[in-house]
Amino acid sequence: MFQRILIANRGEVALRVIRAARELGIETVCIYSTADRDAPYLALADEAICIGPATASDSYLNIASIIAAAEIANIDAIHPGYGFLAENPDFADVCRSCEIAFIGPSPEAMGMLGNKVACKQLAKKNKVPVFPGSDGPVENEEEAVKLAKTIGYPIIIKAVAGGGGRGMRVANNEASLRTGFHNAQLEAEAAFKNNTVFIEKFLERARHIEVQVIGDSHGNAIHFFERDCSTQRRHQKLIEEAPAPGIDASKRDQLCKAACRMLKAASYCGAATVEFLMDRKQNFGLLEVNTRIQVEHPVSEMITGVDLVKLQILVASGEPIPLKQRDVKLRGHAMECRINAEDPDRDFAPQPGRLTRFDVPGGRGVRVDTHCVAGYSIPPNYDSMIAKLITHGEDREACLAVMRRALDEFHIEPIATTIPLHRQLVRNSKFVKGGVSIHFLERLLKQ
Ligand code: ADP
Repeated sequence: MFQRILIANRGEVALRVIRAARELGIETVCIYSTADRDAPYLALADEAICIGPATASDSYLNIASIIAAAEIANIDAIHPGYGFLAENPDFADVCRSCEIAFIGPSPEAMGMLGNKVACKQLAKKNKVPVFPGSDGPVENEEEAVKLAKTIGYPIIIKAVAGGGGRGMRVANNEASLRTGFHNAQLEAEAAFKNNTVFIEKFLERARHIEVQVIGDSHGNAIHFFERDCSTQRRHQKLIEEAPAPGIDASKRDQLCKAACRMLKAASYCGAATVEFLMDRKQNFGLLEVNTRIQVEHPVSEMITGVDLVKLQILVASGEPIPLKQRDVKLRGHAMECRINAEDPDRDFAPQPGRLTRFDVPGGRGVRVDTHCVAGYSIPPNYDSMIAKLITHGEDREACLAVMRRALDEFHIEPIATTIPLHRQLVRNSKFVKGGVSIHFLERLLKQ
């Protein structure tokens, strides 16, 4: 097992990894940018090293500085968290050359699954369903138009290297496909330094259902059931829950088994999420695979009682998963609301600044993952997520009741946050019924 690990991330997830490592008896080294110099979680690490200025490309994305810090701190492994370098195969490769264990998959597995086209091809080979779309990259507008005729509109143009909900465009007809295609390539080039795009059928009333999985270096892969992450704005998740409402045991089994097949086919070691879209008839098709721990992993932890970050560390050190699939039991229902420092009344404008009040809910069935406290200043340079409120109940109704009262206890001042929107959502009749589609929230916001 590792003795000392470096956490190449910040904020909530850095704290999450510090906590898991400490419980495993592993020392932690945190890196930070000058913007995070006063962040309280840094005091919980055994060592903290400044690696550069606020701009992410000069600090949290700067591989040379991170590796230099790793050398100085004498660590045996790096946990990349989520975002930043977590899905960068070059970073995983540099770690390998420096004989530092990367707490995540091999650069090869990451490279293959992180490429959306290669990933879909692997799915087809392994009898994992996919929705209609191009079999590979689409080179030019003419090819796109020809393909769209066979697939049928609406279609979605996506960047092969896409992520974070960026680089996607929907086209309802040939004219919008022609204009959208070129722009999608430009956007993909700017965002991901790779202009390759592909197209697939755009599903109008789909749900986003994903499966949490972990593989080890001994060829095992097990799942921790599914999450429903359909409550999204601009392809960004706002509420996640597990299990997915309205999905029966046999459908669940099909989804989870398909996800495990993907991991085995990629000889995958580490935590991953296999994402699917599900249509109204509950047909599912692969969307993509995220090769890291995700923001919403706590809902799966709450329904299974398993610490996924500890498991990640364990399998990265070469241990087999200490659980069999039959040991993973689904208990009750869990939900997560992402608390973002954004103003829902002003088009979700970011709200950086100093917090004068930060009253966190507690009590039975409540978990809050956050790096914030009263007096903390939210820097303007990074993601706006400042807390995750997770609740658990014996069923969905009980979980929602806990969520409603926990949201009412959560007070943050003076900035605007997504809390008032969440309070509304958990009382919305459609949401309460369960099984909303990925367009539900945007339609509601337009009303
Ligand atoms: P990213 O890697 O940027 O997160 P994904 O492929 O995971 O991109 O898609 C993110 C979201 O975009 C999905 O959760 C869904 O809301 C929407 N989306 C992507 N593909 C489709 C599709 N074919 N039909 C409908 N919505 C889609």
